[in-house]
Amino acid sequence: MSAKPFASSADLAAKTETLEVLAEGVYALTAEGDPNVGAIEGEEFVVAFEARATPAAARDWLARLREHTDKPIRYLVLSHYHAVRVLGASAFDAEVIVAHENTRKLIAERGMQDWASEFARMPRLFKQPEEIPGLTWPQMTFTDRLTIDLGGDRGELILQYCGRGHTAGDIVAWLPRPRVLFAGDLVEARAALYTGDAFHADWSTGTLDRVAAFGAEAVVGGRGAVPRGRAAVDAAIVQTRDFLLVMREKIGAVHARGGTLREAFEATHAALAPQYGAWPIFEHCLPFNVQRLWDELDDIDWPRVWTPERDREVWDKLQGQLA
Ligand SMILES: [Zn+2]
Repeated sequence: MSAKPFASSADLAAKTETLEVLAEGVYALTAEGDPNVGAIEGEEFVVAFEARATPAAARDWLARLREHTDKPIRYLVLSHYHAVRVLGASAFDAEVIVAHENTRKLIAERGMQDWASEFARMPRLFKQPEEIPGLTWPQMTFTDRLTIDLGGDRGELILQYCGRGHTAGDIVAWLPRPRVLFAGDLVEARAALYTGDAFHADWSTGTLDRVAAFGAEAVVGGRGAVPRGRAAVDAAIVQTRDFLLVMREKIGAVHARGGTLREAFEATHAALAPQYGAWPIFEHCLPFNVQRLWDELDDIDWPRVWTPERDREVWDKLQGQLA
């Protein structure tokens, strides 16, 4: 059998985008497993959550949002540094771009490489890439918690760091009254996890504990439809944790007995595929995920930088030879 196409390079079919109104003035745009985005209406302004991969892709989302509100976008909140979440920022014309301090650090350290890597992995998401003006720089950063008063009787939007997880700088956005949580890539609902820049031990324990502790009634995860109701929200968090725990168990066992990275990949693939194999980006992500967790077990705390060259090398070593 021929080798699998690299990452999502052969995934060229457009997805159906759905705008969901989760509460009054609270919006999410989901797209069958493509990265989700959201927005929260204040009295005088809008807070946008995530920016998409390019200005053109962002404009498609804003056109949908503008069917509901014409208020200016004051804050653009970025949950983390990944290119497909941040490089469309210029389209929002936001007064302030907000992110975690570690996200700014990661953009400075590896933003250019991540852009090149993600473009090669998921070219379909990069609509009109020539319009990207450059890296996206957060103008306001924080380390623990930041509160935005939405005005009127709309209450507050709380931006919270829950610990290291999908990256070193993920933040969530929490609306206490409608109990809606925008979780970024810390939670996936019926979509595979990408953990190539992750901290698996922290994420699968304290970080997800803190995410679960919000007690959300709806959670906008990084990809996939929006789970609504406590049971569905809990199921998404359980799924996310289970995916991580299976990886830690399988890769940890092979690593502990002095096995190879390839053996760790095969054991993890076999364990996860029955439940998660058909979900979006499963095959795409797994080689990068296994490599990162293997690095963690080798005591490489700070994730190595992905480049298109290193992506290919890891892909060919793990997915390329699978029969
Ligand atoms: Zn991400």
